This record gives sequence, C-alpha cells and structure tokens, in this order.
Amino acid sequence: MDFKKTFPVEKKINILENLHDFFINSFGPIHKEDFAMYILLDKITCTDTSLCFYFDYSDDLKPYLWGEKTLTITSTYPLKRDESALAGVFCLALAPLGWILGAQFESGYAIDNEVLSCINRIGSILSKNYSWKPTAPFIWMRSTTNNHTAKAVQALFFSGGVDSLASLYRLKNRITCILHLTNFDYENVLLQQSQKELSLINARMYASQMKLDLIHCETNLSSVINHCALDKWFPRDCSFWLGLQHVNHMAVVMNAIDASFSPLYVSGSLDPLHKKIGSCASSSSFINSYMMDSRLEVFDENVSRQKKVEFLIDTAPRVFKNLRVCYTSGDAVCSDCAKCQGTALMIIAGGGHLADTNFPHSIREKLMVTLAKASLVPPDRNMLIMQSLTGRMLKGTQKERYITLFDLLANGKG
Ligand SMILES: [Zn+2]
Repeated sequence: MDFKKTFPVEKKINILENLHDFFINSFGPIHKEDFAMYILLDKITCTDTSLCFYFDYSDDLKPYLWGEKTLTITSTYPLKRDESALAGVFCLALAPLGWILGAQFESGYAIDNEVLSCINRIGSILSKNYSWKPTAPFIWMRSTTNNHTAKAVQALFFSGGVDSLASLYRLKNRITCILHLTNFDYENVLLQQSQKELSLINARMYASQMKLDLIHCETNLSSVINHCALDKWFPRDCSFWLGLQHVNHMAVVMNAIDASFSPLYVSGSLDPLHKKIGSCASSSSFINSYMMDSRLEVFDENVSRQKKVEFLIDTAPRVFKNLRVCYTSGDAVCSDCAKCQGTALMIIAGGGHLADTNFPHSIREKLMVTLAKASLVPPDRNMLIMQSLTGRMLKGTQKERYITLFDLLANGKG
C-alpha cells in the first residue's frame, strides 16, 4: 500500500498542528517542529524465515538514520505472518525515534493492541528515567486485536559470554531452546565476519551439547538507526546502546518470532555498572516490562559476574576454552580491553587457570601491569577488577587481595 498517496504528508502536518493545544494540555509544552517528524511504514513482505519492512521518513530524521529504508529480520524459526503483529514488530524496532525524538508513526497497517500498549509502557518508563519530554508516537496508528496464539517456548537469549554461559548451565532443565542474535553486539560495524561466524559456531555447539534447539536470528537494525547520533539523550557515560537499544533489539527479535516466549530469559550481572553510568536498561524492572504475547525475563540479576565465573569453573570448566568476551578487538577475546582483562582476573581469583582459557598468552604480563596500576587508582574506576578482588582465592584487606592476585599471576599459578 502506498500510504503517502492516500494520506498526504502536508495534510497530516496540518492536523497535527491543530492538535498542538491538545498536547500542551495533556503533556506540557512540546515544540512545534517535533510534529514534522514522521515515519511511514509503507509495505511489509514476509516469508517463514525473513521479514522486510519498507518505510520512509521525514527529512528531519535523517541525522538519526543511516539512509537504509528497509528493515530486515531473518530467523531459523518461523516468523510471524499476521499484518498487525508485524506492524507491531516494525513499530517496536523504530520506537526509539518516537520515544526520544517524538517521531510520529503512520501506516496503512493497523498495529496489534497488546504490542502497542507494551511500546507505550516502555516509552513512559524511559521518559521518566531519562527526563525526556513525554511523547505520543503512535496516536496515528490504527490498532486492532490479534487473536493468533503461538506455541509456548521457554528460551535463553545466548551470546556466548560469561553471563549467558552461566545461565545456560543453570537453566538447562527449564528451557527448550537458545536464541542467538548474530548482530547483537554494539559496534556492529567493527564486527568481522569471522567473529560473527565463530559466535554462531559456539551457539550451535552448546545447543547440541545441551540437546536444545537453536534459534538463530539477524537484523539490520544497526544499519537503519544511527546509534551514535542518539547517544546525547543518555547520561554522559552511557550510550543509546547501553541505555536502551541492547534490550530493545532483543525484544524486537523476540516479538518477530512466531512463538510465545514464556519467557525469553536474559542474563544479567552488569547491573551495578549500568546503575553507575545511569542506564535503566539492564534493570529487571525495565527488561521485564517487555511483556506482550512473549516476554523478557531477567535471570540471575543479583548474581555477580565473579560468582558466575566461579560457578562455571566448578560446573563447566571447558567453556573457558571457547569464551566470548570482547566487543572491541574483532576477536572473541583479547589481552587488552578492560572487559577481557577483568574477566581473566576473575577466573584466576576464582581458582581457574589462564592455561585453560582462550585468552592470548600475552595477557599474563599485561594483567600484571594493569593490576599494579589499578592498585593506585580509586576502586570504582575498575569495576571488573574490583569484582575480581572478591574472588574466593583471595582473603584479607584490599591490599592483601591485590598482592595475592598479583602473586598468582607472577608465579604462573593462575
Ligand atoms: Zn577484549
């Protein structure tokens, strides 16, 4: 359907201008220019395993989008086919532009009522958390009730890192499949093909070992939304990705699949970090708000990464040979980034050995330098290193723990 022909943009803007007073009365002052922003969902095409959403948008949204006007989602599990459900998938995927900037969504397609109320709920939580001006991005969308009932599935969102591995071993009797989203990672442009393939190979291997089904998905969402352009609406040390998109991206994929995830478990242990940088997106209260016919549920939110490392050392030590930690180096692990170094220290502090991991050999010396430096700066600057000091191999004061950890490294015992 060519919606632009049936509903000229000029007419839309006139109507919106007339509604200005209504908005001021309902939500307080809203700048008139906000109303010019719009996103038009023109057409949806679908097969069992792929979805294409063709859309257009107003010029003032250009800084926030890359110019790609087709959103694609692929999955090895059948995808939804109902038009209102699919309109919901699209609206959720682009909703950040409505929540943050007030972009108005329009389409000849009606949106599923349940998804619409979920999107509005999430928008309201975000607006309160980040002090954004309240918006009403979907008032122009027709809504409808979708009576389709999908098969219930219990699944774990699996990236291959410490959190999802620990959850996998703890949840193995409560789930029937794992969901792997190839381009889940933040800096998608930095991801190499080999790195993407490796993470999928890992996911396949664990699914096979655990006798679980694997759902493999991919979207082009990071080629549609310009993440960096939206960072400025989030706290200084946070980002669009950390503050919202890593969760919303999971929810988009969950919502696109023709299953009723009850629930799709999401591993969490970065909560202290997210609180520190002012992100609300890793709290269970936010994640668990994604509740439609499927729902997200945070698992082990209050279990520290150190405790998860120790659980894996005791339960499944071989996982450290295939660990996936790094988002920055282009490889699964590196010897330089803070996340890899912190994780390696946690393994040693938990009683594991670097020789039983896939970290490069060069990491040992680099960790000794990092530890020496870390002992001189305020603790909260090195959250993962600080957490490694709580490892079960270490005792005494903070200084004594640093020394013991350094000795384990220097003596080759860790
Ligand atoms: Zn790294």
